[in-house]
Amino acid sequence: MSRSAHPAGPRHADVLTEGHYSAPPADLNALDGKVWARTVERGADGVVTVGGLPVTRLAEEFGTPAYILDESDFRARARAWRDAFGTDADVFYAGKAFLSRAVVRWLHEEGLNLDVCSGGELTTALAAGMPAGRIAFHGNNKSAHEIERAVAAGVGRIVLDSFQEIVRVAHIADRLGVRQRVQIRVTVGVEAHTHEFIATAHEDQKFGIALAGGQAAEAVRRALKLDGLELIGIHSHIGSQIFDMAGFEVAARRVVGLLAEVRDEHGVELPEIDLGGGLGIAYTSDDDPAEPHEIARALREIVGRECASAGLRTPRISVEPGRAIAGPTAFTLYEVGTVKPLDGLRTYVSVDGGMSDNIRTALYDAEYSVALVSRTSDAEPLLVRVVGKHCESGDIVVRDAFLPADLAPGDLIAVPATGAYCRSMASNYNHVPRPPVVAVQDGSARVIVRRETEEDLLALDVG
Ligand SMILES: *Cc1c(COP(=O)(O)O)cnc(C)c1O
Repeated sequence: MSRSAHPAGPRHADVLTEGHYSAPPADLNALDGKVWARTVERGADGVVTVGGLPVTRLAEEFGTPAYILDESDFRARARAWRDAFGTDADVFYAGKAFLSRAVVRWLHEEGLNLDVCSGGELTTALAAGMPAGRIAFHGNNKSAHEIERAVAAGVGRIVLDSFQEIVRVAHIADRLGVRQRVQIRVTVGVEAHTHEFIATAHEDQKFGIALAGGQAAEAVRRALKLDGLELIGIHSHIGSQIFDMAGFEVAARRVVGLLAEVRDEHGVELPEIDLGGGLGIAYTSDDDPAEPHEIARALREIVGRECASAGLRTPRISVEPGRAIAGPTAFTLYEVGTVKPLDGLRTYVSVDGGMSDNIRTALYDAEYSVALVSRTSDAEPLLVRVVGKHCESGDIVVRDAFLPADLAPGDLIAVPATGAYCRSMASNYNHVPRPPVVAVQDGSARVIVRRETEEDLLALDVG
């Protein structure tokens, strides 16, 4: 998979060949429930509604582009994860997927815990009243100041990512006179991608401490010696947008192997294991994600089996879904600005946002779907590329999709499954203000993150 957004080269000069793209959907007006938030439907007048509100009204009231978030869907997915894992396991929502004070309150009310990985995310979590004990603090380079704030606030756990950090956190905890609960993040040698995983001995990436070569065992040895730390478990996170549980199986086996080593060497059974997040969602109709209860059952089974064969008590499991909760619950609403047919290639549809509100297509070659939402159409399907308004030819929102051939400026189109890693990764490229997040529920809509203004941009620019 290409990680490059460079506009030149053969990948971008490809000529449409017969059969290269999946066939257009049978009905361009249909909305696949897999990729859209749960309350999204098309009204009798052809206008798509969410939470009972027509997108045309939302566009009028809040402008475009806008992230439209289905609050009841967000809460339902959070609850489904919590219920699936029950009271003897913990679900931590990964705040980096999308975090705001409203979201923190929903998570709190639905009984979830929260992962943060910066001082800014910690501030948001605390400001919205998440009890510190339910917050986990992650990151491969937490500053001394961030660690101090987290320890002083009383976060439930800090996930240690390096040998230096073990000492750093212990030192700060000592100074503050507390014993900080910590986990050690290990890299298990599993590279997980959407539909496959690779088990290797080593991983060439910045996170965690390698199981390979006894590194992680050494980290445990050091952490157990330090008074400022209470080592509660081992953490592993193997990737993102994963559909195949086989990667988790290898990870769990290797983590449990470490737990057995720790028991043999130190006579302690660490009480917790965290298997991270990374569970996939449907961006297009081709994706088939598992339900939380299926994932919970699979993970319990895997960990139970591995522990039984190592003669260990089964530790308390935690998981950290971000995308799987937030992703499907929002769509980005855009207005079409220009429609430019390129003969024999495809039609470029320009919208009023772009890579500043969704960088995932340029950054990861992510796939999205798109639909005309302000009306229905009986026109023929047209192969389109949805692009933004930025000065960059890699500014692509949806690389290949079908929209009705009568698409015209002023139409509203929406890209589903943008609830995770879109607003949270949004930028001000070209000084384009970032769109608002509008939460919709039971016929009412409210802004939970307001649209950035040009005054906001000037406020940072001190001249
Ligand atoms: C990113 C991340 C997650 C969440 O990943 P998703 O793909 O959004 O589920 C969970 N845990 C850790 C440590 C992460 O870095």
